[in-house]
Amino acid sequence: MKKKAKTYHILGGGLAGLCAAKFIKEKNKNNNVIVYEAAAHLGGRCFSFYDKILQKEIDNATHVVLGANKEVRKLLRIKDWSNQSYFFDEEKINTHFWRYISFILLSIFNTKACQIPYSAILKLLQKLFPFGTDKRKIYFSKGDLSKNLIEPLRRYADEIKLGWKLNSFQAKNDVVQKLIFNHGEVEIGSKDQIICALDAANYHKIFSGPKFEFNPITNIFYRTSVPLTLPKNIPFIATPNQTADWIFIVGDMVAVTISDSSQLEGIEDEELARKIWLEIREINGIKAAFMPPFKVLRHQRATIKQDKKNNMLRPKTAQSSYKNMRLAGDWTMRNWPCSLETTVLSAKRAIK
Ligand SMILES: Cc1cc2nc3c(=O)[nH]c(=O)nc-3n(C[C@H](O)[C@H](O)[C@H](O)COP(=O)(O)OP(=O)(O)OC[C@H]3O[C@@H](n4cnc5c(N)ncnc54)[C@H](O)[C@@H]3O)c2cc1C
Repeated sequence: MKKKAKTYHILGGGLAGLCAAKFIKEKNKNNNVIVYEAAAHLGGRCFSFYDKILQKEIDNATHVVLGANKEVRKLLRIKDWSNQSYFFDEEKINTHFWRYISFILLSIFNTKACQIPYSAILKLLQKLFPFGTDKRKIYFSKGDLSKNLIEPLRRYADEIKLGWKLNSFQAKNDVVQKLIFNHGEVEIGSKDQIICALDAANYHKIFSGPKFEFNPITNIFYRTSVPLTLPKNIPFIATPNQTADWIFIVGDMVAVTISDSSQLEGIEDEELARKIWLEIREINGIKAAFMPPFKVLRHQRATIKQDKKNNMLRPKTAQSSYKNMRLAGDWTMRNWPCSLETTVLSAKRAIK
């Protein structure tokens, strides 16, 4: 029998909300999908924008996707994977093996390795095993997150309400009956479904969800007058012993990522950019030259802190405490790293 079409109200137009729209339409193309997004743009923590200082389209943060991230790879329209499967100086990795493993875990979980629960590390190992060449391939965003990932998902929504911020709601007998936005109220029909794809902090605020702690990530972008090169002409490098964690080269842009960057809080943008610029020049083998235009982006709540305590606060299933509302989002999957891959999986689970 043909399934009857339903109306789905999606709260949040980040990757989780947009993937939910896709999976709803794939279930039944006659379903009616409405996305409500508080910001003026889609993408949440994953989008690109034109930066006036750098005079270039940049990503809010350089996002790395591994070949092993099957779900997000299906969505990404990319051709230029890097075949580079080494990140470090091989001699160093042999002598400081555990330090490097800790560094990789920090990069994946945005949490100090010693704080990550074993259950989460085990889940990661299961996903990566066996770690063949294809799984090791790397894609990193190049100012194209919106174009390659977010924008193509737009078409799955019948209506996108940008600037619609959910302030509160009304419920009766564990069923959400009304959503109250800054622009007005929306009655929820008896057959309608709600997919809550808000970030963890807003879910806590509006729906009294669990109260998480968060870890920041800092990104710095430099626009150089001529393209910079890294040793052996590789496009990116991990620098575990420096302030910068990862350095990526995209034409005349140098992008730097620093995970769990709380230690940088007291440092002014200019001072931080200068410190890291010196590190880059040293790797590059050229002594300090003047610093090019730069942009520092500090994401205070980049991901939840993925330690044991916060991991246990994550829900076990996608069902919320309201019968007509399911949860999606990177923070909703217990034991999974907060990443694009997990976000897609969470949307799949919510719709299933
Ligand atoms: C700096 C940084 C670097 C990262 N690097 C990587 C990486 O290299 N690789 C990787 O895989 N992942 C990375 N991630 C993680 C990845 O970006 C996230 O896992 C993913 O984007 C989460 O998507 P989401 O839809 O669950 O949440 P969000 O993107 O946070 O979406 C939630 C949406 O809800 C909206 N919203 C909030 N409140 C309301 C309200 N009241 N009413 C309506 N809408 C509301 C928000 O505006 C937002 O659009 C990184 C994240 C950051 C911040």
